[in-house]
Amino acid sequence: MTFRCLLCAHPTGKRVLTKGALQLWRCRSCHFVQQHPLPEALEYDGRYEDAGSYGMQQLPHKHLFLQRDVTVVRDLLRRGARGPLLDVGAGAGILLEAALSQGLTAIGLELAKPSVEHIQTTLGCAVHACAIEQAPLAPGSVGVVTFSHSLEHLLDPVGALRAAARLLPEGGFVHVAVPNWRAAKRHVAGKGIPWIFPEHISYFTPRSLAAAFERAGLDVVAMRTLPMVCDADYRFAITTMERFGLDRPVRRFLKLGDRRLDVLLGNDLQLACPMWRLRAVVATVRLLLRCWPERLFCWLGWAEELRATARVRCHPASSQVSGRGG
Ligand SMILES: [Zn+2]
Repeated sequence: MTFRCLLCAHPTGKRVLTKGALQLWRCRSCHFVQQHPLPEALEYDGRYEDAGSYGMQQLPHKHLFLQRDVTVVRDLLRRGARGPLLDVGAGAGILLEAALSQGLTAIGLELAKPSVEHIQTTLGCAVHACAIEQAPLAPGSVGVVTFSHSLEHLLDPVGALRAAARLLPEGGFVHVAVPNWRAAKRHVAGKGIPWIFPEHISYFTPRSLAAAFERAGLDVVAMRTLPMVCDADYRFAITTMERFGLDRPVRRFLKLGDRRLDVLLGNDLQLACPMWRLRAVVATVRLLLRCWPERLFCWLGWAEELRATARVRCHPASSQVSGRGG
């Protein structure tokens, strides 16, 4: 399969990362980083339809995600956004719940059927099991389209943003959250960082996300980077230790044998060593994580999560559309 940039359609790229069977390539023209080869469309759909639920692992920490998403919705409202809010890749429905709590009508798109049922039973709002390009919604009929950690999953991110622009009126809002390829944490943890995995097709930077908006006819109104993890990021600590071979002495200290440090994050942890050793390791890691200057990296644009808000520049069918809602 020949390379083709998902952003600028340039036909040549260079491999920048291999992780198991996954390969990431960088476009030689616009430097966009994406999977290559891309999964076939059928295999791609199957990942989500057969995955069971999607995003449900967030539910035990729902209050943190809900708080984050309420902030996002309030920020959009302050900027003049109106409903309905359409969330693409609604997962467990937390962003939809945030929209409802702020008085907006909320609509979800989600391919994983159990997640669709979960949203319908718990929130009672409309959810369609389809891609945004096939959403049964009239042009100009929604006020906000959100892609909260879903745009990087799509085979045609620019096409999805264009579809979002078609569903919005002129001046309508798009909000996107994706992992930041430029993140300092990725540079330190390397390819072991948890968000480099087969479901993630695209790896955006502030510049490439702005370019994607531009191609979709959207003007960026806000772009910033933020910490992705609210609590101590043990997974980052483990990945970094493994990258530099520091996991071996820790595993020996905790008498883990051949087991990887990941087992420490599991629920049914059984250790052969005294508990004080685990407490000592956790305290040391927490202390080191506290020294990690993610706040500084936010300011530099190197934090782990990239968030951007954009507005529809000129609606292609604005003269024929008067549909509004909310
Ligand atoms: Zn390109």
